[in-house]
Amino acid sequence: MSMEPIHPSVTAWLKEAPKKMLIGGQPETALSGQTFLSINPSDGRPLAEVAQGGVEDVDRAVAAARGAAEKWAATAPAERERLLRRFAALIEEHAGELAQLETLDNGKPLSHTRQIDVRVAANQVYYHAAWPSRLVGETVPVSIPNLFVYTRREPVGVVALIIPWNYPLIHSMQKVSPALATGNTVILKPASVASLACLRLGELALAAGFPPGVFNVITGPGPVIGQALAAHPQIDKVQITGSTAVGREIIRSSAVNIKRISLELGSKAPNAIFADADLELAIPGAFRAAFGNTGQSCVAGARLFVESPIYDRVVERFVDMAGKAVIGNAMDLTTELGPIIDGKQYETICGYIQTGQEEGARLLTGGNRLAPPAVPEGGYYLPPSIFVGASDGARISQEEIFGPVVNIYRFSTEDELVERANATTYGLAAGLWTRDLARAHRVSARIKAGVVWVNTYDLFAPNVPFGGYKQSGYGRDNSQAVIEAVTELKSVWISTK
Ligand code: NAD
Repeated sequence: MSMEPIHPSVTAWLKEAPKKMLIGGQPETALSGQTFLSINPSDGRPLAEVAQGGVEDVDRAVAAARGAAEKWAATAPAERERLLRRFAALIEEHAGELAQLETLDNGKPLSHTRQIDVRVAANQVYYHAAWPSRLVGETVPVSIPNLFVYTRREPVGVVALIIPWNYPLIHSMQKVSPALATGNTVILKPASVASLACLRLGELALAAGFPPGVFNVITGPGPVIGQALAAHPQIDKVQITGSTAVGREIIRSSAVNIKRISLELGSKAPNAIFADADLELAIPGAFRAAFGNTGQSCVAGARLFVESPIYDRVVERFVDMAGKAVIGNAMDLTTELGPIIDGKQYETICGYIQTGQEEGARLLTGGNRLAPPAVPEGGYYLPPSIFVGASDGARISQEEIFGPVVNIYRFSTEDELVERANATTYGLAAGLWTRDLARAHRVSARIKAGVVWVNTYDLFAPNVPFGGYKQSGYGRDNSQAVIEAVTELKSVWISTK
C-alpha cells in the first residue's frame, strides 16, 4: 500500500460548496438552486456538492457563448495561441492537483492520471495552440477568366462538447482546444459522475485570460442538459464522446437546426494474438488492453482472439495474471485496477456476467464483488473476469460491457480472424500481435476500425486521427481532421475584371 495523501489545496477546493458552473466568465450556481453530490468511487463517500444545471442554465450558457462568438472569431490568431499556451502551462502547473481530482472523482488509478491523463491533456492544448496561425485556405485556379478564387476556414460558431466519465481531462481538452484554436466558443458538459476536473479546468481557463463566454462549463444530468444542448437551435455543432445509444439521441436532436455533429461512441474491440507473436510482449499487452482502467475504456480489447497453437498458454497466463492484479483504492500508487465507477455500472457488468454464463460461456475467474478488508468499504470492486467458449453472436460478444470482462476465443486462420473480428456493429479500435510484417499490414487493412495497433495498444497522439467506423460513430478527434470538423469551408469568388 502506498496511499497518496490528498493535497491541502484539493481538500480546500472540494469543500467550497457548491462547485459552480462557469457561464459568461462567472462562477454560477444553477438558477433552480439545485445541487447533486459527486461520489468518490473508491469508497462511496461524498466528495463534493456540485451545481445541478437545468435547461434555463443551458440557455444562459448558450447566450454567453453566442455573445462572445463574433469577437473571439475575430481575435488575432497570435492572441488565441498565446491564451491557449498560457492555459496549457496552467494545466501543467496544477498537474498534481488535477490528477488527484480526477482520481478521486472517477476512480482511475493515480499512477495513471498523473503519468498519462494530465500530460496528455496539457499536450492536447499545446498542440492545438499551434493551429490558429496555420489555419490557411487555398487559392483555386478556376477555368473561368478574370476571377480570383480562394477558400477560408471559419469557425462553426458555438460548439457544445459532451463527454463521458472515464477520461474527463483528456476528452475535454481533446475537444475544447481545437474548437477554441479555430475561433469557436464552447460549452463543455462533463458526465455528472465525474465533472470536478472539468470545473477546475474552467477556472484555469479563466485564469489564463480567455474572455468571458468563450469557455463555459455546465454540469447536470445528460438527459436534461445534454439533450437541451443537442436540441438547442442556437448551437451550431455538438461533439460527443459517449455511448452509441446517446449518440443516436443526439443525431435525432440535431435535426432541429441541421446541427453539425461528431460522434465518438461505443466499441467492442477485437484484439488478436497470432502464434508467431512475441508472447512476452503480447500477453501482458493484451491483458492491459482488456483490463486497463478496469475495462472502463472505449478501446478496451474486450474480444481477445488467440491462434489455436498458443490458445491454452495464453488462457492460462491470463488467469494467472488476473489472480495477481493489484486491486484497490485509486489513490494508492500501487493500485492497478481501481473501482467500478458506481453501483449502477457495477449492476450492468454483473448482469452481463450472469448473461454470459446463461448463454453457455465458461467464466474461468472473476465475476464476484471483492469485499473489505481486501478493498475499501463502500466501493464496487470487481477482479478481472475471463470468459471462454462464448459464441460470436452471444450478447457478451456483441454488446459493450464497459467493465473488467474479457472473452477469449480460439481461431485458426487469418481469414477466419478477419471475418470474426469484423462481426460487430462497432468499429472503433483493434489490436494485432504478430512478428509477420506482411500479415500486420494485410490484416490491418482488412479490419473495419478507425485505429489498429500492432504489437502495442492504447496509444494516442494529438496529431493522429482517432474515431470510429460503423456504430462507433463518425468524425475524428485529433489531427487536421478535428480542425476541419470544427470549421466551415467558405469559397470566395472575386472578379478581377
Ligand atoms: P453516456 O453516453 O451515458 O454519457 C456520455 C455523456 O452524454 C455524458 O456527459 C452524459 O451526461 C451525456 N448524456 C446522457 N444522455 C444524454 C442525452 N440524451 N443527450 C445528450 N447528452 C446525454 O456514456 P458514459 O457512460 O459517460 O461513458 C461510457 C460510454 O462512452 C461507453 O459507451 C464508451 O464506449 C463511450 N466512450 C467512447 C469513447 C470514444 O472515443 N469513442 C471514449 C470514451 C468513452
